[in-house]
Amino acid sequence: MIDAGMDVARINMSHGSIEEGLERFHLIRRLSEEAGRHVGILVDLPGPKVRCATFGDEYVRLVTGSVVELRVGNDTSSADVIEVNYDGLVTDVQVGDRLNMGDGRAILEITEKQPDKLLASVAHGGKISGRPGLHVPSDRLRISTPTPEDLEILDAFVEVGVDMVALSFVRSAHEVRRVGTEPHPRGPLIVAKIETRAAVENLEGIIEASGAVMVARGDLGNEMSLEDLPVLQKEIISKCIALGRPAITATQMLESMIDAPAPTRAEASDVANAVWDGSSVVMLSGETAVGVDPINVVRTMGRIARRADEEFDHGRWARRIAELRMTSESDTSASVTDAMTMAAWRATAELGVKTIVAVSSSGFTVRSMARFRPEAEILGFSTDPRTVNQLSLSWGTIPVSLPSHVTSNEEMANEAVRTAKAMGHLSTGELVAVLAGASSSSQSANVLRLVRVD
Ligand code: PEP
Repeated sequence: MIDAGMDVARINMSHGSIEEGLERFHLIRRLSEEAGRHVGILVDLPGPKVRCATFGDEYVRLVTGSVVELRVGNDTSSADVIEVNYDGLVTDVQVGDRLNMGDGRAILEITEKQPDKLLASVAHGGKISGRPGLHVPSDRLRISTPTPEDLEILDAFVEVGVDMVALSFVRSAHEVRRVGTEPHPRGPLIVAKIETRAAVENLEGIIEASGAVMVARGDLGNEMSLEDLPVLQKEIISKCIALGRPAITATQMLESMIDAPAPTRAEASDVANAVWDGSSVVMLSGETAVGVDPINVVRTMGRIARRADEEFDHGRWARRIAELRMTSESDTSASVTDAMTMAAWRATAELGVKTIVAVSSSGFTVRSMARFRPEAEILGFSTDPRTVNQLSLSWGTIPVSLPSHVTSNEEMANEAVRTAKAMGHLSTGELVAVLAGASSSSQSANVLRLVRVD
């Protein structure tokens, strides 16, 4: 999958133990190093995710109109009795609630409460396997995110230097701050998954408190009407871009490829439209986790995204971003970077410059640059290895490491141009845009140079 173009690997901790997750982490690190690629690793904390105990590997059919029992447990589920891993199930869920299973594969309607179980009628049947999620409306859940289990997982992954952490079922900016890790790049980049009604209501605060955002369409589609989902996807991405945060569009993008060798026409359009909406990242879940041919899925998604990028109207997009502006004037360093990245976009577009070399310690400059979607290729340089990995989440950016012994900003910019040339991205006599800070004390990118390559 790394060779096929995967930029970021998500380890979804809703499945498997911490040990298994860490094993995967080390495997990805080793393989990406061998491939000479900066593959970011994102650990996804399950949050208060309610799941059914396993139905097994073979599909089990839930028949429309049949009655099923729901009980607290984590052993096995069948078409008659479904065990659920949420202790508050019987108290919190109410008669009349409609619970969505497996991102819409089946819908259960609660008909009766008994002291130790719920009875439900299968409102819409379907084929279920594995451990599907069971969507309990987030305003019914009494546990908030991150859960004690999340914090335990977080500790283990911070210890090994994970690049990004995704937080599930966020409802407020306060919950994002409760993660409590060092701000990136000293700590992981926090990715807030937008999948609850409350998160949509508190969107701006959540984006500002996070390093990136995921449009988690699986659970979001359970909380909101499906016809609102495409509208919300555009709105969330647009706000992220305005604030300089990468936006990940996730779930069921190439779902049919879990079994099939090619996607449906609608899925191909969905991936392209997500690119045109301004997504920095398009994500795969079941397609690569349990699908028949994960490599083929990654290649297919890469092909569709590249083709969509070719048709992208860069000029119109950048003019729109220039109008959105991302920062308040009181935040001087952010507004300087905001203005300088806009200047870099204008200059490179006018002069037909093909490469932008952006040097950054936290990655902020590179992310601000990427939101303009310039036609020029962005090379994101940093001496901080974690920043470099975190840049794998930024649109159209090639992350590159600078040696840590280079300390002055002048030297860093020169070294970055030399490295870009050695990598074959620049040739002698070509004009290149170099975006960097003027001194090691500057928090912002306050120098833009247009230089001819020696
Ligand atoms: C989602 O709900 O869309 C999502 C990405 O979350 P998860 O895959 O962790 O259920």
